[in-house]
Amino acid sequence: MNVNEPIDIANYDYVIVGAGFTGSVVARKMAEHNKKCLIIERRHHIAGNMFDEVDENGILVQRYGVHLFHTGSEDVWDVVKDFGDWRVRDNPSRVDFSSDPLTGVSRHNHPFKDSPVEPVAYPFNFSLIDTLWGGGGELKEALLKEFPGRDRVTISELYNSNNKDIIEFASILFELDFRPYTSKQWGIEPGLLDPSVINRVPILLNYGTELVKVKYQRIPKEGFTKVFERMLRHQNIDVMLNVDALLHLKIDFDNNAALWDGKPLPQNATILWTGAIDELAGYKFGKLPYRSLRFDWLTKNVESFQSGLCVAYPIAEGYTRIVEYKKLLSQYAPGVSSIAVEYPMQAEEGMEPYYPILIRDNKALYEKYRLMIDGIPQLVLAGRLADYKYYDMDAAIERALEIARRFYKKGASAV
Ligand SMILES: Cc1cc2nc3c(=O)[nH]c(=O)nc-3n(C[C@H](O)[C@H](O)[C@H](O)COP(=O)(O)OP(=O)(O)OC[C@H]3O[C@@H](n4cnc5c(N)ncnc54)[C@H](O)[C@@H]3O)c2cc1C
Repeated sequence: MNVNEPIDIANYDYVIVGAGFTGSVVARKMAEHNKKCLIIERRHHIAGNMFDEVDENGILVQRYGVHLFHTGSEDVWDVVKDFGDWRVRDNPSRVDFSSDPLTGVSRHNHPFKDSPVEPVAYPFNFSLIDTLWGGGGELKEALLKEFPGRDRVTISELYNSNNKDIIEFASILFELDFRPYTSKQWGIEPGLLDPSVINRVPILLNYGTELVKVKYQRIPKEGFTKVFERMLRHQNIDVMLNVDALLHLKIDFDNNAALWDGKPLPQNATILWTGAIDELAGYKFGKLPYRSLRFDWLTKNVESFQSGLCVAYPIAEGYTRIVEYKKLLSQYAPGVSSIAVEYPMQAEEGMEPYYPILIRDNKALYEKYRLMIDGIPQLVLAGRLADYKYYDMDAAIERALEIARRFYKKGASAV
């Protein structure tokens, strides 16, 4: 079919734009509720940013960056658990303070050692103190005393301590890792960012390795795309790939209406939009800024390239981290390894928008869009791009469940 040809949506209850978790979970839930759903996705594949495939080296790789599923919610887990063979994550992340493996540069930028140190576990835990402070018994004791009963704290909490050793610890961590990582990742000084962004990363007061402390931390053995395939395999769901919904969907702001192929929507139809809100509104008030990523894919003829699945390199120029995919669920690929190097950059025309830049002006611009679009009958927005929020997968699923519940209850027009 020519993608510019009109698409007849008369037989669908829900037209869902985007086949990521938000769109796919709503489609599945409504399909199980006996509603007909059409998913329209402009990429050549389902699964949104979770898309993975086996590459030319026979290694399962995640094309939009490494994704590890975690949730503490039984409701969220119930949504996905039967669609995959979920395995416990087996390879913690690391930070290598001393080297840039792409240029071979090695130097130390830490105050206590006069030579490079071994990569440490990430999120940071007591092994960092062992490595850099040579044991650091007193510092560990001070931390446990300052934060009794806690197993994790944020860098802001360390800074707010009254203990000067803890404040110094915070400031060393900040200079070693948080500042270089944040400046590269976000392209702005850390102080300008919403503190919640930096505080997302805990510092563990033990030797644990869990970034989040929740019950389910899993990876689907056969990959996320297979999970999506199974989720979308339902008689009430149709999927169209390689179709940009904006060739069909227009907002008539003068009349507060959504139009499909130039006509009012069929009475029973609801559109769920999980793409970018500013794009849907024709960038009427300007572009909402995002950070994007360029992934450089390299094949290395080695058994192992680095110390872990995902290693951050604070001293490296331009890139933040490297993911070595054969270490995801210990894949068998003798003598060869596929790595993806992540270069953060501003999202320009034609690039995937990944991370909303949550600073005051951008949030205000988003609210302006939301005010304009909310209340258009038969049009519902949700998902990380439409809500301009950083959602982890579990949060995207929770948001989808919330939308599905509203759909069950009230019908389209009231949502
Ligand atoms: C590098 C990276 C790593 C991440 N790692 C993790 C992790 O380890 N754990 C975790 O829980 N979360 C992680 N996330 C977050 C995760 O990717 C999101 O939670 C998830 O993608 C949200 O799903 P979504 O459906 O809202 O959005 P998406 O997955 O982005 O889906 C939206 C879909 O809409 C489509 N679309 C947009 N506009 C149109 C249009 N006009 N027409 C048709 N289709 C359109 C897009 O192509 C896209 O496929 C990571 C994100 C990034 C960027």
